Amino acid sequence: MSLYELTIHEAGDGLAAGEFTSVELAEAVLERIVATDNGVKAYLTLTPEEALEQARIADERRSRGEDGPLLGIPLAIKDVLCTEGVPTTCGSRILENFVPPYDATAVAKLKAAGAVLLGKTNTDEFAMGSSTENSAFFTARNPWDLERVPGGSSGGSAAAVAADECLGALGTDTGGSVRQPAGLCGVVGLKPTYGRVSRYGLIAYASSLDQIGALAKDVTDAALLLGVIAGHDPRDSTSIDAPVPDYTAVLTGEVEGVRVGVPKEYFIEGMQPEVEAAVRAAVDALADLGAGVREVSLPHTGYALPVYYLIAPAEASANLARYDGVRYGLRVGESGDLIETYKDTRGQGFGPEVKRRVMLGTYALSAGYYDAYYLKAQKVRTLIKGDFDAAFEQVDVIVAPTSPTTAFRIGEKTDDPLQMYLSDVFTLSMNLAGNCVLSLPCGFDAGGLPIGMQVMGPPLGEEQVLRVAHAYERATAWHKQKPMLPSQEE
Ligand code: GLN
Repeated sequence: MSLYELTIHEAGDGLAAGEFTSVELAEAVLERIVATDNGVKAYLTLTPEEALEQARIADERRSRGEDGPLLGIPLAIKDVLCTEGVPTTCGSRILENFVPPYDATAVAKLKAAGAVLLGKTNTDEFAMGSSTENSAFFTARNPWDLERVPGGSSGGSAAAVAADECLGALGTDTGGSVRQPAGLCGVVGLKPTYGRVSRYGLIAYASSLDQIGALAKDVTDAALLLGVIAGHDPRDSTSIDAPVPDYTAVLTGEVEGVRVGVPKEYFIEGMQPEVEAAVRAAVDALADLGAGVREVSLPHTGYALPVYYLIAPAEASANLARYDGVRYGLRVGESGDLIETYKDTRGQGFGPEVKRRVMLGTYALSAGYYDAYYLKAQKVRTLIKGDFDAAFEQVDVIVAPTSPTTAFRIGEKTDDPLQMYLSDVFTLSMNLAGNCVLSLPCGFDAGGLPIGMQVMGPPLGEEQVLRVAHAYERATAWHKQKPMLPSQEE
């Protein structure tokens, strides 16, 4: 087994036992990236020199007796999180040359824990998308089939984890962007409770929905990553001031008596039959492990998509107003005319999907339409949250598919935004409710493409979500399967 194939916890054990050094591990992963990323296109920016220097420091810290789950572990960061001195583009031309002077809190926490940061991963522009095709630079590819999308918007992070081009990665999830690519790439994706992880230094898309999450090779790794990045941060007023537990302590394999809900609204017409079959089989497997399964109802599920596509663009239109060509980022037009500079900068700097969202959002917020659209959407959001609150009085977790289909072909949905939006039909509700949720592999379709399922929890229910996901993972072997990647060394 090559070093780059290790999980975080396996690599941590190997480093602690002195079987290899952090520098050797980083070198192995960097070589892997060189061999495969021409095909996968997971990374927008690589920082090999910085990574090797961080690995050297991690080895030094270890030789002084320090230890820790991420000490010397090579990780990747979605390119919407600010990294001091390293370009942070959000997959957009408008920030192509932006080099932040500070680290996002989640990044700073990884660095403090001794992680080795390999680079910045590909994303749909400003995290708007479900396929990484909205990246202004290039489309990331699914390691299971390079002609297919890895999902999005954290497609680069998911593809990098699936292709063994990092041991784990950070992504962000506003409507599904950690879970949907995790599902399509056959890896684990964890979206924590809104506020569990500080958003300081996360470049905002829709602030009431955005949350930083982890992409990992297994559930244990996701628990380890969350344990490091979670916690209160005075620089994010929405971050939750609650203690961070040891998330690995609950990974016992025990689910005897845990109450699992299966929402009837999540098995819909038009979904790929293999996805439904795989998720139902996974529910049976949990029952075999001793969990109590019952059907639950989330009656307002059908409204999640329209509600999300009012609230998210509304917030995006406000958040993206700051890219005006004046303060930082791209500036087009030195005519001296302010309005022309705004228009030219935004006209050339933003791609078509971002423009669509800004227009939708501005419309939804405009005088005369605010009450009819934005305010109504907020009210229905409360009903969606109420569905989950009621369900979680009866059950501990809810299990559902992550996406209605497995990975689609590059180009298949680019001409039809609504089809693209439907890829997130099962993931959006959890952001609207602000709850925590994890996606993990639960099978493959006939074409050999991974299928993901969600384990949803109540606010701050990360421990029960991780416990159930881990028990299922331990009883199955889906997460051990790896894509066969052609080596693309030039
Ligand atoms: N695909 C959804 C969107 O385009 C979700 C994106 C996300 O979670 N960042 O908005």
